[in-house]
Amino acid sequence: SLFRGLQFLTTVNDLRSLPNEGLEVAFAGRSNAGKSSAINTLANHTRLAFVSKTPGRTQHINYFDFGQERRLVDLPGYGYAEVPAAVRAHWEKLLGLYLVNRSNLIGLVLIMDSRRPLTQLDCQMLDWFLPTGKPVHCLLTKSDKLSKQDSIKVLREVKKQFAELPQVTVQLFSSLKKQGVEETETIVGQWFAQ
Ligand code: GDP
Repeated sequence: SLFRGLQFLTTVNDLRSLPNEGLEVAFAGRSNAGKSSAINTLANHTRLAFVSKTPGRTQHINYFDFGQERRLVDLPGYGYAEVPAAVRAHWEKLLGLYLVNRSNLIGLVLIMDSRRPLTQLDCQMLDWFLPTGKPVHCLLTKSDKLSKQDSIKVLREVKKQFAELPQVTVQLFSSLKKQGVEETETIVGQWFAQ
Protein backbone atom coordinates (compact mmCIF):
# COMPACT_ATOMS: atom_id res chain seq x y z
CA SER A 1 0.00 0.00 0.00
CA LEU A 2 1.06 3.55 -0.82
CA PHE A 3 2.09 4.97 2.56
CA ARG A 4 3.74 1.81 3.90
CA GLY A 5 6.77 2.33 1.68
CA LEU A 6 7.20 5.99 2.62
CA GLN A 7 10.83 6.96 3.24
CA PHE A 8 12.51 10.16 4.31
CA LEU A 9 14.09 11.90 1.32
CA THR A 10 15.41 15.35 2.20
CA THR A 11 14.87 18.59 4.10
CA VAL A 12 14.80 21.98 2.42
CA ASN A 13 14.81 25.42 4.01
CA ASP A 14 13.65 27.66 1.21
CA LEU A 15 11.54 27.51 -1.91
CA ARG A 16 14.48 27.80 -4.28
CA SER A 17 15.83 24.47 -3.01
CA LEU A 18 12.71 22.43 -3.85
CA PRO A 19 13.40 19.46 -6.13
CA ASN A 20 12.58 19.97 -9.80
CA GLU A 21 11.35 16.48 -10.53
CA GLY A 22 8.48 14.35 -9.24
CA LEU A 23 4.86 14.82 -8.29
CA GLU A 24 3.99 15.76 -4.73
CA VAL A 25 1.16 15.76 -2.24
CA ALA A 26 1.57 18.32 0.56
CA PHE A 27 0.48 17.95 4.19
CA ALA A 28 -0.28 21.27 5.87
CA GLY A 29 -1.84 22.23 9.16
CA ARG A 30 -1.72 24.34 12.25
CA SER A 31 1.10 23.51 14.55
CA ASN A 32 -0.06 20.80 16.98
CA ALA A 33 -2.99 19.74 14.77
CA GLY A 34 -1.54 16.22 14.59
CA LYS A 35 0.23 16.36 11.21
CA SER A 36 3.40 14.49 12.21
CA SER A 37 1.36 11.87 14.03
CA ALA A 38 -0.87 11.44 10.97
CA ILE A 39 2.12 10.96 8.65
CA ASN A 40 3.65 8.42 11.05
CA THR A 41 0.33 6.58 11.39
CA LEU A 42 -0.23 6.47 7.63
CA ALA A 43 3.30 5.17 7.13
CA ASN A 44 2.86 2.73 10.03
CA HIS A 45 6.10 4.07 11.41
CA THR A 46 6.73 5.47 14.87
CA ARG A 47 9.20 8.23 14.10
CA LEU A 48 9.29 8.99 10.39
CA ALA A 49 7.97 12.52 10.75
CA PHE A 50 9.29 14.11 13.91
CA VAL A 51 6.71 14.86 16.56
CA SER A 52 8.21 18.06 17.86
CA LYS A 53 8.22 19.03 21.52
CA THR A 54 8.72 22.64 20.50
CA PRO A 55 6.27 23.18 17.66
CA GLY A 56 7.12 25.93 15.25
CA ARG A 57 10.79 25.92 16.25
CA THR A 58 12.05 24.11 13.18
CA GLN A 59 10.63 25.58 9.99
CA HIS A 60 11.75 23.05 7.45
CA ILE A 61 10.02 21.46 4.50
CA ASN A 62 10.52 17.70 4.78
CA TYR A 63 10.30 15.51 1.71
CA PHE A 64 9.29 11.85 1.87
CA ASP A 65 9.35 9.44 -1.03
CA PHE A 66 6.58 7.00 -2.00
CA GLY A 67 8.73 5.65 -4.83
CA GLN A 68 8.29 6.21 -8.56
CA GLU A 69 8.95 9.96 -8.27
CA ARG A 70 5.96 10.46 -5.99
CA ARG A 71 6.55 12.54 -2.87
CA LEU A 72 4.90 13.60 0.35
CA VAL A 73 5.80 17.12 1.43
CA ASP A 74 5.52 17.87 5.14
CA LEU A 75 5.06 21.64 5.28
CA PRO A 76 5.94 23.63 8.40
CA GLY A 77 3.06 23.92 10.86
CA TYR A 78 1.54 27.38 10.95
CA GLY A 79 0.01 29.53 13.64
CA TYR A 80 2.26 28.63 16.55
CA ALA A 81 1.76 31.48 19.00
CA GLU A 82 5.22 31.47 20.56
CA VAL A 83 7.05 32.09 17.31
CA PRO A 84 7.70 35.81 16.78
CA ALA A 85 5.03 37.43 14.60
CA ALA A 86 7.54 38.45 11.93
CA VAL A 87 8.88 34.90 11.61
CA ARG A 88 5.33 33.55 11.42
CA ALA A 89 4.36 36.06 8.76
CA HIS A 90 7.44 35.14 6.73
CA TRP A 91 6.58 31.43 6.81
CA GLU A 92 2.95 32.01 6.05
CA LYS A 93 4.00 33.98 2.99
CA LEU A 94 6.27 31.13 1.87
CA LEU A 95 3.42 28.66 2.34
CA GLY A 96 1.21 30.85 0.19
CA LEU A 97 3.83 31.09 -2.56
CA TYR A 98 4.34 27.34 -2.45
CA LEU A 99 0.61 26.51 -2.57
CA VAL A 100 -0.11 28.95 -5.38
CA ASN A 101 2.91 28.39 -7.61
CA ARG A 102 4.22 24.88 -7.12
CA SER A 103 3.57 22.99 -10.35
CA ASN A 104 4.79 19.63 -8.96
CA LEU A 105 2.03 19.80 -6.36
CA ILE A 106 -1.04 17.72 -7.26
CA GLY A 107 -3.08 17.87 -4.06
CA LEU A 108 -3.21 19.19 -0.51
CA VAL A 109 -3.98 17.21 2.64
CA LEU A 110 -5.15 19.76 5.19
CA ILE A 111 -4.75 18.61 8.78
CA MET A 112 -7.16 20.13 11.28
CA ASP A 113 -7.89 19.25 14.88
CA SER A 114 -11.47 17.96 14.81
CA ARG A 115 -12.19 20.02 17.93
CA ARG A 116 -11.38 23.30 16.12
CA PRO A 117 -11.47 22.93 12.35
CA LEU A 118 -11.29 25.76 9.83
CA THR A 119 -9.39 28.33 11.84
CA GLN A 120 -8.57 31.61 10.15
CA LEU A 121 -5.18 30.35 8.96
CA ASP A 122 -6.69 27.11 7.64
CA CYS A 123 -9.08 29.25 5.60
CA GLN A 124 -6.14 31.35 4.42
CA MET A 125 -4.41 28.20 3.11
CA LEU A 126 -7.63 27.22 1.31
CA ASP A 127 -8.03 30.71 -0.15
CA TRP A 128 -4.56 30.39 -1.64
CA PHE A 129 -4.90 26.82 -2.84
CA LEU A 130 -8.48 26.38 -4.05
CA PRO A 131 -8.10 28.70 -7.06
CA THR A 132 -5.48 26.28 -8.45
CA GLY A 133 -8.38 23.85 -8.98
CA LYS A 134 -6.33 21.03 -7.43
CA PRO A 135 -7.96 18.71 -4.87
CA VAL A 136 -7.92 19.19 -1.09
CA HIS A 137 -8.51 16.39 1.40
CA CYS A 138 -9.24 17.47 4.97
CA LEU A 139 -8.26 15.20 7.85
CA LEU A 140 -10.19 16.01 11.02
CA THR A 141 -7.64 14.63 13.45
CA LYS A 142 -7.76 13.42 17.06
CA SER A 143 -11.33 12.24 16.47
CA ASP A 144 -10.84 9.90 19.44
CA LYS A 145 -11.10 13.00 21.64
CA LEU A 146 -14.72 13.49 20.57
CA SER A 147 -17.73 11.33 21.28
CA LYS A 148 -19.01 9.33 18.33
CA GLN A 149 -21.95 11.70 18.11
CA ASP A 150 -19.81 14.87 18.17
CA SER A 151 -17.37 13.51 15.59
CA ILE A 152 -20.24 12.75 13.20
CA LYS A 153 -21.56 16.25 13.81
CA VAL A 154 -18.25 17.99 13.07
CA LEU A 155 -17.72 15.86 9.97
CA ARG A 156 -21.16 16.84 8.71
CA GLU A 157 -20.56 20.54 9.46
CA VAL A 158 -17.20 20.69 7.69
CA LYS A 159 -18.60 18.78 4.70
CA LYS A 160 -21.42 21.30 4.56
CA GLN A 161 -18.89 24.16 4.33
CA PHE A 162 -17.55 22.59 1.15
CA ALA A 163 -20.82 21.37 -0.31
CA GLU A 164 -20.36 23.57 -3.37
CA LEU A 165 -16.74 22.51 -3.91
CA PRO A 166 -16.35 19.00 -5.33
CA GLN A 167 -12.55 19.40 -5.22
CA VAL A 168 -12.70 19.22 -1.39
CA THR A 169 -13.18 15.96 0.53
CA VAL A 170 -13.31 15.49 4.31
CA GLN A 171 -12.81 12.60 6.72
CA LEU A 172 -12.26 11.86 10.39
CA PHE A 173 -8.83 10.61 11.46
CA SER A 174 -7.29 9.31 14.66
CA SER A 175 -3.63 8.48 15.03
CA LEU A 176 -4.29 7.15 18.50
CA LYS A 177 -6.94 4.68 17.29
CA LYS A 178 -5.40 4.30 13.83
CA GLN A 179 -8.72 5.25 12.27
CA GLY A 180 -9.09 6.66 8.79
CA VAL A 181 -5.88 5.30 7.26
CA GLU A 182 -7.50 3.46 4.35
CA GLU A 183 -9.72 6.38 3.42
CA THR A 184 -6.73 8.75 3.19
CA GLU A 185 -4.74 6.20 1.23
CA THR A 186 -7.56 5.78 -1.29
CA ILE A 187 -7.87 9.52 -1.93
CA VAL A 188 -4.14 10.20 -2.22
CA GLY A 189 -3.72 7.08 -4.36
CA GLN A 190 -6.37 8.43 -6.75
CA TRP A 191 -4.54 11.75 -7.03
CA PHE A 192 -1.33 10.01 -8.08
CA ALA A 193 -3.20 7.68 -10.45
CA GLN A 194 -4.78 10.54 -12.41
P1 GDP B 1 1.89 18.55 14.58
O1 GDP B 1 2.49 19.73 15.27
O2 GDP B 1 0.72 18.95 13.72
O3 GDP B 1 2.87 17.71 13.82
O4 GDP B 1 1.21 17.65 15.71
P2 GDP B 1 1.76 16.31 16.40
O5 GDP B 1 1.59 15.15 15.50
O6 GDP B 1 3.11 16.58 16.97
O7 GDP B 1 0.67 16.15 17.58
C1 GDP B 1 0.45 17.18 18.52
C2 GDP B 1 -0.06 16.55 19.81
O8 GDP B 1 -1.32 15.93 19.59
C3 GDP B 1 0.84 15.47 20.35
O9 GDP B 1 0.84 15.56 21.77
C4 GDP B 1 0.19 14.18 19.90
O10 GDP B 1 0.45 13.10 20.75
C5 GDP B 1 -1.28 14.56 19.93
N1 GDP B 1 -2.04 13.78 18.93
C6 GDP B 1 -1.77 13.71 17.61
N2 GDP B 1 -2.67 12.91 16.98
C7 GDP B 1 -3.52 12.46 17.92
C8 GDP B 1 -4.69 11.60 17.89
O11 GDP B 1 -5.11 11.07 16.88
N3 GDP B 1 -5.32 11.41 19.09
C9 GDP B 1 -4.89 11.97 20.24
N4 GDP B 1 -5.61 11.74 21.35
N5 GDP B 1 -3.82 12.78 20.31
C10 GDP B 1 -3.13 13.02 19.17
